[in-house]
Amino acid sequence: MQTRTVLISGASVAGPALAFWLHRYGFDPVVVERAPRPREGGYAVDVRGAAITAVERMGLLPDVRRAHTGTARARFVDGAGRTVAALDAGVIGGDTDGADAELLRGHLARILIDATRSTCEYVYGDSIAALEEGPAGVRVSFENGPDRVVDLVVGADGLHSNVRALAFGPEERYLRHLGRYIAICTVPNHLGLDREAVLCTTPGRVAGLYSGAPHTARAEPPRAGEPPLTGPNPEAKALLAFARRDGGATRPADRADRVRVLEEVFGGMGWEVPAVLAGVRADPDLYFDGITQIRMPGWTRGRTDLVGDAAYGPSPMSGQGTSMALVGAYVLAGELAAAGGDPAVALPRYEAETRAFMRANQDIAAPGARFLVPATAPGLRVRDLAVRSAPLLARLGAPGSRVGRAARSITLRDYRDHAVR
Ligand SMILES: Cc1cc2nc3c(=O)[nH]c(=O)nc-3n(C[C@H](O)[C@H](O)[C@H](O)COP(=O)(O)OP(=O)(O)OC[C@H]3O[C@@H](n4cnc5c(N)ncnc54)[C@H](O)[C@@H]3O)c2cc1C
Repeated sequence: MQTRTVLISGASVAGPALAFWLHRYGFDPVVVERAPRPREGGYAVDVRGAAITAVERMGLLPDVRRAHTGTARARFVDGAGRTVAALDAGVIGGDTDGADAELLRGHLARILIDATRSTCEYVYGDSIAALEEGPAGVRVSFENGPDRVVDLVVGADGLHSNVRALAFGPEERYLRHLGRYIAICTVPNHLGLDREAVLCTTPGRVAGLYSGAPHTARAEPPRAGEPPLTGPNPEAKALLAFARRDGGATRPADRADRVRVLEEVFGGMGWEVPAVLAGVRADPDLYFDGITQIRMPGWTRGRTDLVGDAAYGPSPMSGQGTSMALVGAYVLAGELAAAGGDPAVALPRYEAETRAFMRANQDIAAPGARFLVPATAPGLRVRDLAVRSAPLLARLGAPGSRVGRAARSITLRDYRDHAVR
């Protein structure tokens, strides 16, 4: 049975990107999102390497570039706030020619949703309750809306994917904990940071503050023709991350417990940490999760497939989750088009084309976690030495960072000549 209708769960990065390409090739995508409206704001994410090619082919690169956070460098300070090392943003991501882009996840999602809202159906405030595959397709029931029968279901619903749980079983089977936890919240920019990240590390703990260009304080990405905002950014993002080798057992169920864990771990740390903890207590959107990856032996079960964090979430420590989602969506839709809509041909090809790329990008996360949160004092000294030598190594022509190499480790096929109608 050929595919025409595709139900996508999740409207962040992978979901709308997949909807974009599916519509381009003549499929009928519907996106269902649990949140009542497009989710706003959030942390900064990176679009690098092959993902820049994917966004360029969408025609959305100017929008993405306009929303760039402008972050120029990261500074590493000691408990007294003295700078011990600093790195240019480009050196971190191996971006030697300034081609990559960093923007807020919410801005990127909005750019993708705006590019698809007039051509694809979006259903907000609902979630898939059950999937049942039969000869006519997949019968999907929802928590709120009426049942639908579609040709293909794709879970683009993130690390804790609902579609994965329904089709592949409990997430514990696929979660790999990297021995670190992370919390992110929004705080007043009381240090007056301008396009800069500052990180204070003690063994096993890191606290950070970063503030991008003024438009990063807005829910909406900058529009074409709009003059750039000037003046200080009133907001900064605060990050708290810590090492705990408990296999992911620290999973505070509610907000009060999350705040308590952070107060326990970071109490008495010094630097700006008391102000960050005040921000943790004040921000209703406090994010807190284990730093985990999704590792699955396969992403397809019959007429259900996965894309983005739901299938191969690399953890925030790779800095590549967004680029992987954009590349995965591009290849999945392209292979479906190239196979004339036949999922038996297209879904294995999507996996074969992208698996090595996804693996390479997942593999940079464990070193990334040790870099961000060294667990011991010697580990911290080695990290700071590595930071201090990185600019010199880059100047001497060292072969880019692992992130940069992984980001460029796939050549995207051109699917332009394929369409199912
Ligand atoms: C704290 C943090 C920091 C990060 N930092 C970086 C970084 O520096 N650089 C980088 O590149 N990446 C970073 N990432 C990763 C990046 O955000 C993700 O990898 C990327 O957004 C993947 O997109 P996605 O669309 O697959 O999943 P997500 O962005 O997680 O989106 C999933 C969507 O599905 C929706 N959803 C969930 N459940 C349901 C349901 N039952 N029904 C319907 N919809 C549902 C959610 O509301 C959400 O809109 C970070 C992630 C986190 C959590």
